[in-house]
Formats: sequence, C-alpha cells, structure tokens
Amino acid sequence: MSTPQTDLAIWDIESVDPAKALQIRAMREQVQADPETFWLEQAKRLEWERFPSVGNRSTFEDEVSIRWYEDGKLNVSVNCLDRHLKERGDQTALIWQGNDPGVSRQLTFRELHAEVCRVANALKSLGVKRGDRVAIHLPMTVEVVACMLACARIGAVHVVLFGGFSPEGIGERLIDSGAVAVITCDAAKRGAKTIPHKAVIDAALRHTGSIGSVKNVIVVNVSDTSAPMTAGRDHDYAELVAGQSDVCEPEIMNAEDVFFLLYTSGSTGKPKAIVHTTGGYLVWAAYTVDVTFPAERGTTHWCTADVAWITGHTFVVYGPLANGSTTLLFEGLMGWPQAGRWWDIIDRFNVSSFFTAPTAIRALMRDGDDLPRQYSLASLRRLASAGEPISPDAWLWYYEVIGQKKCPVIDMWWQTETAGPMLSAIAGAQKLKPGWATTGIPGIFPSLTNEKGEIIENREAEGCLCFDESWPGQTRSIWGDHKRFRETYFTFSKGRYFSGDGARRDADGNLMITGRMDDVINVSGHRIGTAEIEDAVATDHSVAEAAAVGINHDLKGQGIVVFVVARNTKTLPSEAHLSKVICERVGRYAAPEKVYLVSELPKTRSGKIVRRLLRKIASNETDSLGDLSSLADTSVVPALIALVQKQL
Ligand code: ATP
Ligand code: MG
Repeated sequence: MSTPQTDLAIWDIESVDPAKALQIRAMREQVQADPETFWLEQAKRLEWERFPSVGNRSTFEDEVSIRWYEDGKLNVSVNCLDRHLKERGDQTALIWQGNDPGVSRQLTFRELHAEVCRVANALKSLGVKRGDRVAIHLPMTVEVVACMLACARIGAVHVVLFGGFSPEGIGERLIDSGAVAVITCDAAKRGAKTIPHKAVIDAALRHTGSIGSVKNVIVVNVSDTSAPMTAGRDHDYAELVAGQSDVCEPEIMNAEDVFFLLYTSGSTGKPKAIVHTTGGYLVWAAYTVDVTFPAERGTTHWCTADVAWITGHTFVVYGPLANGSTTLLFEGLMGWPQAGRWWDIIDRFNVSSFFTAPTAIRALMRDGDDLPRQYSLASLRRLASAGEPISPDAWLWYYEVIGQKKCPVIDMWWQTETAGPMLSAIAGAQKLKPGWATTGIPGIFPSLTNEKGEIIENREAEGCLCFDESWPGQTRSIWGDHKRFRETYFTFSKGRYFSGDGARRDADGNLMITGRMDDVINVSGHRIGTAEIEDAVATDHSVAEAAAVGINHDLKGQGIVVFVVARNTKTLPSEAHLSKVICERVGRYAAPEKVYLVSELPKTRSGKIVRRLLRKIASNETDSLGDLSSLADTSVVPALIALVQKQL
C-alpha cells in the first residue's frame, strides 16, 4: 500500500502523566503474561450471583465459538442499579434534557431502580418471558433507558430500533428478531418536527403480516398526540406501568445467555443482527468506559449517540451506569432551537466527558469558532470521537475550539460487533496523534495482514485490521446465521477476527484507520485508503467534508472520484485547486479524475458516509444501487445522480 508523506508526526501532543503511563503499562504486561487472571480480575468490576471460575473459552477455529465467564451468573440491571443503592442511591443516575430547552428531568439511582422494576413487572404482566425478544422503538427519553433495563431485569432480549427507520426496515427487523412485543411512543419530537412513531409501527406490523410474532405494543405518550390504539394489542405505557409494584426480583442469567440484539449501521450492505451476551458484555462495558473515558464523581458523562447504536448501548447506558456515573440523555438536535445547544447543555449540567461522532464535529466546524467561544465549557475534562475516521483537521478543531487545548481528544475505533472501543489512546498514558486511533486498549491485540490474510510483520505497514485474541464483549454470532458470522469475520485470516477495515501502522505501533477494505482504491498498483484522500482534501479550509471512491479506469485500473461539501456555499473551491491539494498531500498518482462539489453526502442513519453508493453513482451504474434501507435521507440520491450525469 502507499504511504504518503504527511506532517502528522509533528502534531504529537504531549500530555503524559508518568504514573498513569506506568499503570497502563503494568496492565498491558499482565494481560500479555496471564490473560486469564487479568480478565477474571476485570470481572470483579461487577456483582455476580455466582462469580465465574473461567475467563476466556473462545476459539476462532472450525465452527467458531466465543465464550466468556461461562459458569458465571448475574443480572445486568442489578449491576447498573441495585448495587449502587446503598452507597449512592440518591446520586443522579440519569439526566434527561428534553427537546424543548425548558424541559428536563433527573432521576437518582433509587428512582430509576423503582421505574425499571415497574416496567419489568408490566412486561411480565403481558406474558413477556426470559429469552423473549422485545423491540424498543423510542426516542431519547427516560423511558428508553427504563425499558432497556427492564428487559435486562427479566432476562428478555432487547432489540433497540432507531426511530428514523422506515416501516419496511422495522418490519424486516421485527420478523428477523422474532420480537413478541414492541415498545414505542405516539410521536417523537425532533427539533420543530414530530415524527409519528406509532403510525410507523402500525405500518411495520401490517408489513410483517402473519409472519410477525408481535403480540403486544406498548405506547409511551411523548408528544400528547392521540395515536390510534388497536384494542387487545396496544397498551398505554403510563396506565400499564402505574399500577405495578416497584419491587421486581431480578432474573438470574447465565453469563452466556443472549443479552441483546443490535443491527449494524448498514454502511456496506444489508444490516446484520449482532448478538451480544450478558456477562462478557457488561464486564467489557464497565472496563472500556473506565479505562478510556471515565467521568469524575459529581460530574456528568455525555455521549451524544442515539441509544439505538452500539455507542448508545455501551457509552450512554450500560458502561456509565455499571460504573455508578451520571449519564446524560438528550432528546433534541444540536442546532435547535438555536445553534450552540450542545455547548449550553455542557455548561448547564457540568459535563466532564463528552463523546460525539466525526459527522457532528464536521457540521459544528461549519458553524464557525465564535459560537462555542461564547460558552464556558470549563467542566470538560476529555473529549472523544468514534464512528468514522476523524481527519487530523477536525481532530485539531475539536481539541482547540471545544477542548480549549486542555482536554485530550480520544479517537476510538469500534464496531457493533466489538461492543466497545478496541483501539483508543489512553489519556495521560501516551501521546495523542490527530487522526490516529493509536493502539489496542490493554487486553486487545490488533494485527495487520495483507490482502491474502497473511500477517505483516513489519512495523511500518498498511493492511487489513484483524484481532488475534477474543475479548469479553466480542459478538457471539449473527442472529440466526452463524454461518454468515463465521464467513464474514473468521475465514479471511485463519485464527483471527477480521474487522473489514484497513489501517496504517507507524514505527511506534500506532494505528490509523484508512477506510473500509471494500472501499480501497487501486490506482496503477497504488492501493489508497479512502481516508487518506479525504484527510488530504479536508486540510483545505474551504472543505467541510469529503468522500473518495474508485471507478474503473482503462489505463490505471481504477481512478479516483471525490465528492466535496464546501464549508461556505458562497466561496466554492475550484476543482483544479482541490486536485492540487490531493496531489501535494498524497502524491501525483492520487490525482482525481473528477471532483464533484455537492451539497450533501449520502449517510446512514448513524451518520456514516455510504461510499458504496457514491461509487455506483460516479460509475453511472444507477440501476443497481443496492440496499438503501439504511440511508438517513434518500432524497440525496437523485440529486447526486442528476449532478453527476450533468457533468459526465
Ligand atoms: P455495516 O457493518 O452494516 O456495513 P457499519 O460497519 O457502518 O455498518 P457500525 O458497526 O455502526 O456499522 O460501524 C462500525 C464501523 O465504523 C467500523 O468498521 C469502521 O469502519 C467505522 N469506525 C468506527 N469508529 C471508527 C474510528 N474511530 N475511526 C475510523 N472508523 C471508525
Ligand atoms: Mg460493519
């Protein structure tokens, strides 16, 4: 692969605390020498009904079997709530900020515990049992957290579905997961809009028809709109929950019982239902939040991800609550009713750990630096980004303007399949490197392979990102399709988990994600990751965001096409200028065939750029666009097609 010259190394930021560095080094040495003891020690972060006698019993060979702590027994809700009652029952567990700036609510661990027990009893009253799947289709409200934990309390398997999915998308997921109940709301509030959740569920259930297994629909009143109710099937949440006892004996689960199913974002194709189990997942959630992104007592942890994504599960709900931290849930949008809404929330609720995605950071950069400077942001201690590669430019902006050069920016790499961050700098223990996810966290062993799945021994290299050992939060399977699971992740490089992403490694062993392996562009034998071109274009001040794709080229094999969104629509950069920027930063061989200035890029509902679609559009193969169900806004597609066809 190509290794373009960049000036990244000089951007290293010194922030190393020798004591912290020593502590992390000791952890790395321990897990290297005796992983079993290390991971059993991490299990002590939780309260078990029966403490496990074994740690890792996984194999990536043959049929592939991932098993952790398998003779342990526990309940997740007990770990997130009950065990905190004695010491910090009256501490705030959950801060909820409504869409409307004047509406917010705070629940202590004791109050959340009582609500969870009532919801758990309500679910039981409808006949929901251990192992049953319950779909949760709610906006960012207190109820979404209460319902997730209520499922955990009775051993039901939650399947949280993003509010913005279409009826067909939801219907397919209801059939695939075999859900017996759906918890939704009348309508959700998103800025000035209301989104008719109940109507979407009604349409989804018509879509599932007789194949569907949903017997009950519980409807939370979020927006005071009167959603039509189907007698015998639909229940009002408040009525159902109000009369329930706030005592509910927790169902004691085996560590390897399925805890939840969660669909991936669908950037590369049809989303997959990823299976996570109880003990390993919760140890991993508690461990990763604590190691990478703790929140000080009396301060607040805020991850802006929707709970319907893995970051929401682990860094909004389970990780912070298992560790006894205060977590913040925000129902609204970052720019409504006015820009700067997020910064106001940080100041108001004393947020110390703030976590968002590159797509949001790029949008915030477009608003300019003056806006965040009107806020104090003094409570912030650390910032994080995950979900997509963050360009060094966006990293530095986040560091300087939001973190005011005093908060480390942690770039974390994870997947729905990994349940938590695998690659992440540990603040204080190492230097940070803008745009680099740096190293495996203690206990994680990343490796690079070539295209054939053979290990690359050289330190400085570029290749396919794999992991040599299992970790407690590793997905156990794809729901109902273990064969697809094995083939997707374990056949590429024997004995390793293949992530599907590409990475570059520097002389110190730091890793930078170069993009998805499916998207790598091969120009006259130079293999170029999409992030390398996109980072280069992003260094130009006129660029807000960019996506690079490869198209067939008679002479070069593949040629590069770049889609660019300008920061300011009044002063558009020229194609020749952007082309020059790429050549200077990456190399002459990366000169693009075409640069399109567009107003929007196609994104998944979780905010990731869908390059497979741009590739089709750039190649004029618009009759085979593939699965569009994961797109946030399909109207972007015809606009892009029209623009490209005009310029072909
Ligand atoms: P699908 O698997 O359905 O195509 P998806 O991979 O987008 O969808 P997720 O599990 O939500 O679904 O996303 C994981 C992917 O997000 C990773 O494989 C990687 O490509 C990207 N990603 C996550 N964090 C980072 C990061 N810090 N840097 C670069 N890429 C990241
Ligand atoms: Mg994926």
